[in-house]
Amino acid sequence: MSELAILGGQPIRTKSFPKWPQVDKMDEKVLLDVLHSGKWGRGMDNGRRIRKGSETYINKLEGTIADIHKSKYGLVVSNGTAALDLAMFSLGINEGDEVIVTPYSYIASSTCILQAGAIPVFADVDIDTWNIDVDSIEKSITDKTKAIVVVHFGGQPAEMDKIMELANKYNLKVIEDAAHGFGAEYDGKPVGIFGDIGCFSFQESKNITCGEGGALVTNYKSYYEKAHSLHMTGRVFGGQWYEHSQLGWNYRITQFQAALAYSQIQRIDSQDELRQLNAQYLNELLKDIPGIEVTKSNTKVTKHVYHIYTFRYDQDKWDGLSRRRFIMALNAEGIPCHKGYSYPIYKNPLFLNMKTKDYGQFQKLCPNAERICSESIWLPHNVLLGTKKDMDDISNAILKVHKNINKIRR
Ligand SMILES: *Cc1c(COP(=O)(O)O)cnc(C)c1O
Repeated sequence: MSELAILGGQPIRTKSFPKWPQVDKMDEKVLLDVLHSGKWGRGMDNGRRIRKGSETYINKLEGTIADIHKSKYGLVVSNGTAALDLAMFSLGINEGDEVIVTPYSYIASSTCILQAGAIPVFADVDIDTWNIDVDSIEKSITDKTKAIVVVHFGGQPAEMDKIMELANKYNLKVIEDAAHGFGAEYDGKPVGIFGDIGCFSFQESKNITCGEGGALVTNYKSYYEKAHSLHMTGRVFGGQWYEHSQLGWNYRITQFQAALAYSQIQRIDSQDELRQLNAQYLNELLKDIPGIEVTKSNTKVTKHVYHIYTFRYDQDKWDGLSRRRFIMALNAEGIPCHKGYSYPIYKNPLFLNMKTKDYGQFQKLCPNAERICSESIWLPHNVLLGTKKDMDDISNAILKVHKNINKIRR
């Protein structure tokens, strides 16, 4: 057995994993198309009919996203945070309303609620799937509850059948934050279109990326038209150039970003397939290692797109080797991984300093989110775009650290 790399030994890997983002000839072509077209923005395209053959990349991307999700409408915007803000305002979420959300997500899943003047209420997550827990949602419902923000964490669909049942029972709107879950499927159906509005992000780490970008899908004309107008400074949908009917923002995307996202989408299927194959293989390799709890899938998840590969690390089963040292040792062996969110959303100063509600209480109400934050390990999805041998290296590096616990434990 060779010495651990963190102690000066030979690392398991010196070769890097596949890089992200990945670029091909089509990406180059579409960017040059836009550059030379002289049409760099959305311009006056505010919902009026577009002549066939004169669609821009923004139009094509919206069409593709709607097709993939079998949704009536698709709107492409400047980023995922903007898409979530637009969703809240389009659904008419208002001051004083309560909106239930997972505490284990990026901050934007909850700030959209604050932007609308509403109150985020955090429900706990499931310890095995890391997604919002349906019983915890039900316990959090009050007569002020108006909506639920569901996150498909890491690219794994949340339990949409039960969540929609609850939403119907209590007459709640559902916003799906599918920033991690573009193309993921639950019960054979793409996520993002189970609820009222689904939101996506094309930020640089995401499975579809153009640096910055976002989108929303919906089957409701009124939500689509309202979101479209709001993202164009409140311009009347299908109306005149200087005709503004409501207070909006400029949340428009450029044609460059749309073209790149459009091009990236053309190869998502083969990438998804590879990520799934490798993740399933890695699950098998890791499942019997003590103290490594691979994140589980609900039986109705038909496609997990693995934006993040996750497991929990139980230091008690590793003779007290801290997660920090474990990660450092793996990184030294050439395995990219990190701890993920340091704490649940509600422990951000934004929430702890809030006067309107005591967010400190959620530490007690969300024990699973707390535990996941203290035990989580994340591997970025590009690691899964490698070979089977790359997965063996990950597992071998973990086993190597396990055999040498006593040499690095402090
Ligand atoms: C990335 C992300 C967002 C926000 O998207 P941006 O495009 O970065 O604004 C929202 N929710 C989740 C879960 C995300 O990971």
